[in-house]
Amino acid sequence: MITVNPIPAFTDNYIWAISDEDESYFAIVDPGIAKPVIDFLEERNGVLAAILITHHHFDHVDGIDALLEHYPETPVYGSDTEHIPQCSTCLVQDDVVVIPEIDTSFKVMLVPGHTAGDIAFYGEGKLFCGDTLFTCGCGRVFEGTMAELYHSLMRLSKLPPETLVYCAHEYTLDNIGFALWVEPDNLNLLQRQALTHELIDSNMPSVPSPLKLELETNPFLRCNLPNVIEAAEKTAKKSLTSGVEVFQVLRTWKDTQYD
Ligand code: ZN
Ligand code: FE
Repeated sequence: MITVNPIPAFTDNYIWAISDEDESYFAIVDPGIAKPVIDFLEERNGVLAAILITHHHFDHVDGIDALLEHYPETPVYGSDTEHIPQCSTCLVQDDVVVIPEIDTSFKVMLVPGHTAGDIAFYGEGKLFCGDTLFTCGCGRVFEGTMAELYHSLMRLSKLPPETLVYCAHEYTLDNIGFALWVEPDNLNLLQRQALTHELIDSNMPSVPSPLKLELETNPFLRCNLPNVIEAAEKTAKKSLTSGVEVFQVLRTWKDTQYD
């Protein structure tokens, strides 16, 4: 069994530290900055076994060089199409990343949309998905297309419902605000808002969350439900015929009016 710890970074990033149970070896996901990672490892006398990268944005990669200086020859795993120069292994869909020191492995899922070549790592019931699927939201479409991100999210949504979603930012409360614009009467969502307030007020991360809760509350995974379609149609002032059209309206609505 792996253990996962958050290393908070910048204003709202989580760098995830994956380890064996006795916390001797660590794999680090998306080190946008090195200092908090080095501090975290040194506090625990931990050894850096691997660096995993979901996509090329600075808040996910800018700590790689300093980490490699500090821990030379650490393997770096990233997407084949993200042009991350420090990658020692470039990954494609269905590749498996084996981390023997932690006695675990992760399956690679190609999830384009936020960027052109985003990947997610899935293993031991845990999903490390960077900025693709967020708790109660999803990433913005920067390089891919709306349809690509929609289909990436649909693929993630078919993982087992007990899967824990480890995204890279603490956005839950803000995302719930928009989700309530879409579904003001969703009782699961109102309950999630109250619970998330409690967590944030006591300085606790609201990530990870079970995929089941995302399916119940995340509007971007609910584009085929009648009340979500209705809300999107009201906003678009036209009828919408597919999940991807609904998704596009929701994403644009959030980008232009909520954020
Ligand atoms: Zn990003
Ligand atoms: Fe990010």
